[in-house]
Amino acid sequence: MFENLGLEERLLKGVKAMGYTTPTPIQEKAIPVALEGRDIVGCAQTGTGKTAAFILPLLQNMGTQRGVKALVVTPTRELAGQIVEVARECSRYTGHKVAAVYGGVGYQPQKDKLRRGVDLLVATPGRLLDLSGRGDVNLSQVEVLVLDEADRMLDMGFWPDVRRIMKLLPAKRQNMLFSATMSHQVLGVIGDTLSRPVRIDVAPSATPIEAIEQAVYPVGSTQKGDLLVKLLEERDLDRVLVFTRTKHRADRVCRTLSRKGIKGVAIHSNRSQTQRQQALDGFKNGKYRVLVATDIVARGIDVDNISHVINFDMPNKAEDYVHRIGRTARAGNDGTALSFLSSEETSALREIEGLIGTTLPCEDVEGFDYDYRVVPDPGREATKVRKLVYNGGALSGKRRRSRRPGRSMARAR
Ligand code: AMP
Repeated sequence: MFENLGLEERLLKGVKAMGYTTPTPIQEKAIPVALEGRDIVGCAQTGTGKTAAFILPLLQNMGTQRGVKALVVTPTRELAGQIVEVARECSRYTGHKVAAVYGGVGYQPQKDKLRRGVDLLVATPGRLLDLSGRGDVNLSQVEVLVLDEADRMLDMGFWPDVRRIMKLLPAKRQNMLFSATMSHQVLGVIGDTLSRPVRIDVAPSATPIEAIEQAVYPVGSTQKGDLLVKLLEERDLDRVLVFTRTKHRADRVCRTLSRKGIKGVAIHSNRSQTQRQQALDGFKNGKYRVLVATDIVARGIDVDNISHVINFDMPNKAEDYVHRIGRTARAGNDGTALSFLSSEETSALREIEGLIGTTLPCEDVEGFDYDYRVVPDPGREATKVRKLVYNGGALSGKRRRSRRPGRSMARAR
């Protein structure tokens, strides 16, 4: 019950208007602690309800003086957009002004919005530093700082920027840090930045890795496009998210699909904000059957009912495999993750299997004219699970029963 978390009536009304009836586990755990003003470290990914978990208490605790009193720093424009939407709804009955600033769109409208007064600011690091450097935003009133997707900000090289931002803030403030993974790097940052934080871990509510059917399709690198087309033409793949290693390859996959009359669209950091939003909206409303993405934007893709994730290229980092496939099987739906594996990528597969503690089944696609066979080491076995903990849930560090490659699709446990 939201009523038991210590939230004021005007926020409860906002929660009700959003249609939330029961708090998610992270909301239940984080809201009372955040309301006390304590620092928080939350191990949770998108999809767990973490946004409202930090927005609601910071709105309640916000002072009445003019100026930016709460700052949420997040790595991508998509996330900034989603956070500000939640903030807008939560603050419907509080009268607080919320805004987002991010790169890739005009500077002046953001500057104007700031001049008119903003209480809660959501920002990507680069644009925020630009605005601050030109004197267009004053951060000296900030009482609460939220670092969202901290691991991704580290991965993307934003940390020096985040440090610069922190120097612009009053030293006395509340900090909340959220991260989908807790690597040593993230833990180092926590030690540096937070004061006696309360640690809150939640498993992803909708996507334990066990719920996703996973299989590997070995295929030569030059035949990946053909294999994707064959699967899309012959199988009942409804709403498909395809991951490639580079932006260039994402565009190429889209061109291949369009030559075959399959409706697909690419989303990556070279595309403008408007193009990215249009791609996401079109994918959500069914205009496009396939969304092709790179890892950088994966976290911003909050779309329900993705039936299949296809790793056209294996991810460079094993953790990204978990983030990628976690986009499917949300909210109790079925989901399947298929990974195309070329001979150059077999070591990536071993890394992934080591991380998830499972040997994934390898399968051939019937009727596909393979140029040559890609054979991953058949004797490979997941022997060790690295210490890295994913969401405090799915990857607990225990070794799971391994599965030998087989022809049949099976749930990987
Ligand atoms: P987030 O993890 O913050 O990105 O939220 C994921 C999705 O869950 C968003 O679409 C939210 O609107 C939704 N959501 C968050 N909290 C609740 C709740 N208590 N009840 C129902 N839906 C929620």
